[in-house]
Amino acid sequence: MKTALITGVTGQDGAYLSKKLLDEGYKVIGLTRSYNSINTKRLSFLGIFDSVEMKEVDLMDFTSVLKVIENFNPSVIYNLSAQSSVALSFEQPIGTVNYNIMSVLNILEVIRLVNPLIRFYQASSSEIFGNVITEFPITELTPHRPASPYAVSKSTAYWLTVNYRNSYGLYACSGILFNHESPMRSGNFFVKKVIDSAIEILRNKRSTLEVGNLEVKRDFGYSPDYMEAVYLMMQQPNNLVDDYVICSGRSISLKQLVDHVFNYLNIPLKKIIVKKELFRPNEIFDIYGDSSKAKKALGWVYDKDFFQVLESIIDQSIDISNK
Ligand code: NAP
Repeated sequence: MKTALITGVTGQDGAYLSKKLLDEGYKVIGLTRSYNSINTKRLSFLGIFDSVEMKEVDLMDFTSVLKVIENFNPSVIYNLSAQSSVALSFEQPIGTVNYNIMSVLNILEVIRLVNPLIRFYQASSSEIFGNVITEFPITELTPHRPASPYAVSKSTAYWLTVNYRNSYGLYACSGILFNHESPMRSGNFFVKKVIDSAIEILRNKRSTLEVGNLEVKRDFGYSPDYMEAVYLMMQQPNNLVDDYVICSGRSISLKQLVDHVFNYLNIPLKKIIVKKELFRPNEIFDIYGDSSKAKKALGWVYDKDFFQVLESIIDQSIDISNK
């Protein structure tokens, strides 16, 4: 039985990827920062909490990373753990940059020293491209112009991964994922925040939704399908390891998105209040990508319309909130 080690296992993607790997017959070891505060809700929602072996590890501590990798000797490590919020990274730039870079470097160094045959996946982000003016759609070749501390940290982690692959021949690669959502998305991210707030308005628990700049456009997709692509990236022959953009290929404005949620739930649009104070210091205005490379090389299939995905997330979120 192959062993997969997943950092960030308690997050949205960690839960869906764990499910995928268990279905594929892997033993899954999930790393958590603290046994005392494990967020079990996503793994439990998917009915797999008891199937994932949890291990407490501080990824900032080289010795702890060394011990856990030596102990389990996984065939693959999926590194999903990160301070993952762009907005929070403006408030906590030092913590974000430290964690999102040093945790990656610790794992890569341990793989290099202990067992260079361990495959390594790095969860990268479309945020690394920053404000792209003309080069649409974004591909793996688009230059990085990161526009937030989060994006800087993910760009550096991306290049560290490339560097360890080129310098030491590791099977190490990054999935450059555009925004992807699900009912398991944390409530501090835009789509889930809008849906949760709309459900609260419907139930008279709040009266309005306050939002920032709704002219911003993003390329949105569905997390379980994106985890399928991540899985496929790690199944290639050794000489074909590579980085891939994973996206839907289409951007939609936050205004279209919020309006769709409110219309779907029959809530008047006047309950959406735009507040200048909520605009970000350095906003990316539009971003969409091209995953032709992943579709061709990995056989990944994705053709979902995000408005349909949105309606399914709304329905599932209502179900979850009723329980
Ligand atoms: P998420 O739901 O926010 O999960 C993040 C995970 O990282 C959680 O397990 C969290 O643990 C852990 N974590 C966060 N800060 C940590 C810290 N300082 N120390 C230890 N653990 C920490 O994120 P996600 O949506 O699943 O995303 C997974 C990865 O993909 C992240 O690296 C994210 O940056 C990247 N990504 C996501 C998207 C997207 O649209 N979702 C797009 C591109 C890239 P706790 O449960 O203990 O908080």
